[in-house]
Amino acid sequence: MTAPRKLHIKSYGCQMNVYDAQRMVDTLAPEGFVETANADDADLVILNTCHIREKASEKVYSELGKLRVAKAEAAQAGRTMNVVVAGCVAQAEGNEIIRRAPVVDVVVGPQSYHNLPALLKQAKAGGRALDTEFPVEDKFSFLPPPKPAAIRARGISSFVTVQEGCDKFCTFCVVPYTRGSEVSRPVAKIIDDVQRLADNGVREITLIGQNVNGYHGDGPDGRPWALGTLLYRLAEIPGIARLRYSTSHPRDVEDTLIAAHRDLPALMPFVHLPVQSGSDRILAAMNRKHTTEDYRRVIDRFRDARQDIAFTSDFIVGFPGETEEDFAATLALVTQIGYAGAYSFKYSPRPGTPAADLQETVSQADMDERLVRLQNLIDSQQSAFNAATIGRTVDVLFERPARNPGQIVGRTAYLQPAHVMASDDIIGQVLPVTIESLERYSLLGSLARDSLASAPVANSPVPPVLQPVVSQSVSSHTVTGA
Ligand code: SAM
Ligand code: SF4
Repeated sequence: MTAPRKLHIKSYGCQMNVYDAQRMVDTLAPEGFVETANADDADLVILNTCHIREKASEKVYSELGKLRVAKAEAAQAGRTMNVVVAGCVAQAEGNEIIRRAPVVDVVVGPQSYHNLPALLKQAKAGGRALDTEFPVEDKFSFLPPPKPAAIRARGISSFVTVQEGCDKFCTFCVVPYTRGSEVSRPVAKIIDDVQRLADNGVREITLIGQNVNGYHGDGPDGRPWALGTLLYRLAEIPGIARLRYSTSHPRDVEDTLIAAHRDLPALMPFVHLPVQSGSDRILAAMNRKHTTEDYRRVIDRFRDARQDIAFTSDFIVGFPGETEEDFAATLALVTQIGYAGAYSFKYSPRPGTPAADLQETVSQADMDERLVRLQNLIDSQQSAFNAATIGRTVDVLFERPARNPGQIVGRTAYLQPAHVMASDDIIGQVLPVTIESLERYSLLGSLARDSLASAPVANSPVPPVLQPVVSQSVSSHTVTGA
């Protein structure tokens, strides 16, 4: 029997990349690869890259510089280390990576990673391999499903891609070029995936897509199903305690999705609904095709259906032509909506996008200053949102042992981390917790009396080995310089 080969994947960027990294592990497992946390002793290193902002892309080349050294050291020790660049930088830069970085053996775009075993063989046969096609076939049909042990090791919360690509063409964004046009996976395949995850202890599913509420996959009745309809069906799968979805576009909020929030207790009342700007002039220049009034109306529809719903958003400051007045309108919108958290970014011109040609740029100093002001406002809203939890009893889905001995950490409906002193047999259960205090973004509390006496909510097997789960954070998050 040959020894397993070690695979190290470093993922950058969005949750789609986190999910893709897991699927690459599943694709390479039948080839004898097992994951390692350390790049230096790996036989195969994959950089799963992000192209959304300039800083994110640049990181790839600095990482490749380090890998050049590690690869040379491996060769000196008589080992072969292969290096793969995957993800959106691979898609956008393709041959340029091969030209600039001789350390790279394979370049593979996000729609082609099911071809990784063949590409590695090609590289081994003496060449360097590139695949940045947008194949017509659904790559998911070619990916092996994760093994039960892999699912269990990944914890009780899982992403499932239901939709990929984007046809919206916001003028600042590379996604339509790197991920291609919108494709929805068929309903039956998603049900299979979720059923398999549930059978192996997963309790929470986050459906992901670049434009997830644009989902329109073929249903078993031969008609396209909307995201809301899909959620109703998934909520019937035994063992699934919580459903989430991300990222939504304000233009694609259909009535079935609103109804699903009204009707499904498993559908968490927490929606990431990026608006990008509070100025109608800037929204038009961004080609968002919605106004602030449209956005407010969408928020009202959600709130009418479920009063405890909370929102997060993405904002871009310093889009070309953004005046102080436009920015003031963004602050006004944030004040009016009241967010539980948000991501805010300085505008980063991306080659090939329409906005990159706009001349009326905003100075770095103005961008920096606006970012701080926006972030301060969002931080204050997030702190108030978290502080409002103190003294209340809220449901927490427990995920894993915390860093502090004896503590178990889980997440509230709003993805706030919540810590309690308890034994680890509560992992995988949704239990009421009385929140006593707040430490930065984490809630501290104790299991509510009722939960100590009551039967566990979990009705699916609890995974024996639990690793930290990567899940979307509500922390307000400033990405500077990118
Ligand atoms: N589809 C989602 C939507 O429309 O809201 C967004 C997906 S994008 C991967 C995530 C976020 O990155 C965007 O919401 C936007 O705020 C930010 N972003 C995208 N392109 C950017 C750019 N050129 N500069 C700065 N931020 C950018
Ligand atoms: Fe990018 Fe706009 Fe599509 Fe979101 S909707 S992925 S921001 S083009």
